[in-house]
Amino acid sequence: MAFPITRRMDADRFWSTMEASAQIGVGREGGLSRLALSDADKAMRDLFVEWCGQAGLAVTVDAAGSIFGRRAGADDSLPPVLVGSHLDTQANGGRFDGIAGVLAGLELVRALNDVGHVTRRPIEIVNWTNEEGARFSPPMVASGCFAGQYALDWVHARPSDDGPTFGDELKRIGYLGETPVGGRSIDSYFELHIEQGPVLDAEKVQVGVVTHGYASYGALVEFRGETAHTGPTPMDKRHNALLAAARLLVAVDDIGWEYSATGGKATAARLVAWPNKPGILSDWSQAVCDVRHDDPDTARAMADRMHAAVTEAATLAACEAKILDTWEWGGRIFDRALVNLVRRKAQELGYSHRDLPSQAGHDAYFMTRICPTTMIFTPCKDGITHNNAEFTTKEEISPGFDVLMHSVVAQADRG
Ligand SMILES: [Zn+2]
Repeated sequence: MAFPITRRMDADRFWSTMEASAQIGVGREGGLSRLALSDADKAMRDLFVEWCGQAGLAVTVDAAGSIFGRRAGADDSLPPVLVGSHLDTQANGGRFDGIAGVLAGLELVRALNDVGHVTRRPIEIVNWTNEEGARFSPPMVASGCFAGQYALDWVHARPSDDGPTFGDELKRIGYLGETPVGGRSIDSYFELHIEQGPVLDAEKVQVGVVTHGYASYGALVEFRGETAHTGPTPMDKRHNALLAAARLLVAVDDIGWEYSATGGKATAARLVAWPNKPGILSDWSQAVCDVRHDDPDTARAMADRMHAAVTEAATLAACEAKILDTWEWGGRIFDRALVNLVRRKAQELGYSHRDLPSQAGHDAYFMTRICPTTMIFTPCKDGITHNNAEFTTKEEISPGFDVLMHSVVAQADRG
């Protein structure tokens, strides 16, 4: 029997799961601080696994810690339609970023269970590990590993600020799964996410049809200098690694301003140094920066400028520079047929909608490498995100959810 287009989200049931999540890893008022593979992340994972079990899903955990809940299809030999996002948050994160997408997948399964609809293809929901990169850099390593971008050993070796590696922490919280990471056929991937930008909220549009993601390039840069006294050491004898990193980060910000008229962004995100004390020059520092632009060629040009700025900063501070890691994502358009499907469902359901790109990084970007992929955005107040004031309502999420549900079911049921 066909899944009736009149079905709508059980917004109260969905919201009760969102509220339960908002109690785990509480951060600043109204927000969450649920860093990847922390005790709070474990508690959230345990609850998610319990919910998956109650919804009749077969749960597996892969060796990168990503959790999959599978609902069998009528023809279970077909590749699954995958729906998900992430349950980890930034240090000062909100309650919705990522979480809405994972729990929307769960609610979708519950909605299918309500009417006993078995889709032709299996449906899997997923919580990707460490999307944020707030504790282990870079972000989106688990989906990147699933899509063949990163080797598992390299992912396991990512260090945290607080000492243990990604692999250590997976083991400690009991989520080092036995399922191989990726290497299997996926029919398609859908991710619902709050927009994390102001457009839908400002224009009072209910659903964002995401066409593609900004091309983004990031770098982790290390500078080495020499400790010395801040008093007697002559200016021309200084090798202050803190200064080198500071110069780089200012230069990167300048690149952002240069491209801002066309929507370019460049970010000085992080600076750490040692000893980082008064009275002494630092001999070591690390900086993290990134650039992004809607036009892939422009993003590439910005990235070249960022790399040139590394050498310039090192020269100006008489330090040695080393780029320890780089990453890139986005710049690919999402699958045209899936984007059209999402737009058509928004129309059929009578919701206002508009096309827009994603400017933030998402696990979906890596999934484009292995299967047709798309995203659906829902409004968030004033576009505030990665902040405890991040806010949306069940009324604002519901239209995007309904579009997700009917798109996924149509995709899973197609002949
Ligand atoms: Zn997110």
